[in-house]
Amino acid sequence: MPEKYQYYRLWADVDLNAIRSNILKVQKNLSEHVRTCAVVKADGYGHGAVQVAEAVSDLVDFYAVATIEEGLELREHQIWKPVLVLGYVHPSMYESAIMNGIRLTVYDLSIAKGLSAAHERLISQAGSEQVKDAPIHIKVDTGMSRIGFFPSRESVQVLKEIASLPGIRMEGIFTHFANADDETTERALDQLDVFRRFLSELEAEGLHFPVRHCANSAAATCLQEAQLDMVRLGISMYGLYPSCYVRQIPLEPAMSLRSHVIMVKKIPAGTPVGYGSTWTAPEESVIATIPTGYADGYNRGLSNKGYVLIGGAKYPVVGRVCMDQMMVDVTNPLEGKGGEVREGDEVILVGRSGDLYITAEEISELAGSFNYEFVCGISKRVPRIYH
Ligand SMILES: *Cc1c(COP(=O)(O)O)cnc(C)c1O
Repeated sequence: MPEKYQYYRLWADVDLNAIRSNILKVQKNLSEHVRTCAVVKADGYGHGAVQVAEAVSDLVDFYAVATIEEGLELREHQIWKPVLVLGYVHPSMYESAIMNGIRLTVYDLSIAKGLSAAHERLISQAGSEQVKDAPIHIKVDTGMSRIGFFPSRESVQVLKEIASLPGIRMEGIFTHFANADDETTERALDQLDVFRRFLSELEAEGLHFPVRHCANSAAATCLQEAQLDMVRLGISMYGLYPSCYVRQIPLEPAMSLRSHVIMVKKIPAGTPVGYGSTWTAPEESVIATIPTGYADGYNRGLSNKGYVLIGGAKYPVVGRVCMDQMMVDVTNPLEGKGGEVREGDEVILVGRSGDLYITAEEISELAGSFNYEFVCGISKRVPRIYH
């Protein structure tokens, strides 16, 4: 282990080149005109939104975030490409969104009216040369039953009204798949069909959108016909798979989670380990303490279930995962050769050691979760080290 990292209890290594190469691999499957939106919400799925956005800026055309604060963070770091907020924004932030060129998702009439009013207020303060039109993206609900307009006749009329509001520019329209990562593409294709029919209705009414988009990572990799004008890449950028069914493209996980052994001790047979004494040494055992716990995002559900890699061998987590520490039975490896485990040895929680690899997918599934939640859950106090 590099000496300097012993300063940290644990850390997340983030390989920015892996993120770049994952984008390039997905883009190989895209038609030439299709734009790429890098989804960097939730601090770049835990990888660091600003660092990721900077590292991929020459490869993408758009960024997507979940909150206005996430969008403003990009602007504060001189990231100027278009940013789309995918979710709710409080009306008090509309002026700030307009001034920063941050695109809002419009899923009902009141958002558009509020934005238009905010635009007028800005013009009355600064003059019309100073304030650009507010580009918006209309959200259509084709099967998620989350935010969005229903693809109905009534919605066509509402969208016409929105298009006529002063200060509003219809830049994009999008929908989101509920099942793009399914075993079959049937349901996603149904949603795509609904979306396309709605787009034709809008076009017949004179409503045109330069950026029509619907594909997330799963659809961008498996549904050629869903690419439209832009794809929104989240999980695949980070080298993780949307589900076990979507593994067409070999991706490289960008994050590994590492720590080190801070104490090794021998305990006699019959000695309990951890809160609640849920594990008892069946024989004389060697226990290593790792300074990583559920407050770091290492799920408590991994108590007596998880495993780690030390020196190219796999060892089980024993007892309950504590808030800031956990214990590992290093008496005998589950896999790999192993040797004597010593204080200071590097511990791989997710990532490679020798021939062995622990994926975010397998470890999160053991805890009853999934890879998206695992990487987003690596807490703020875990330093990210960039390569
Ligand atoms: C999070 C999100 C995405 C990215 O999804 P991945 O499965 O991570 O690629 C795309 N679109 C919307 C609307 C999202 O909320």
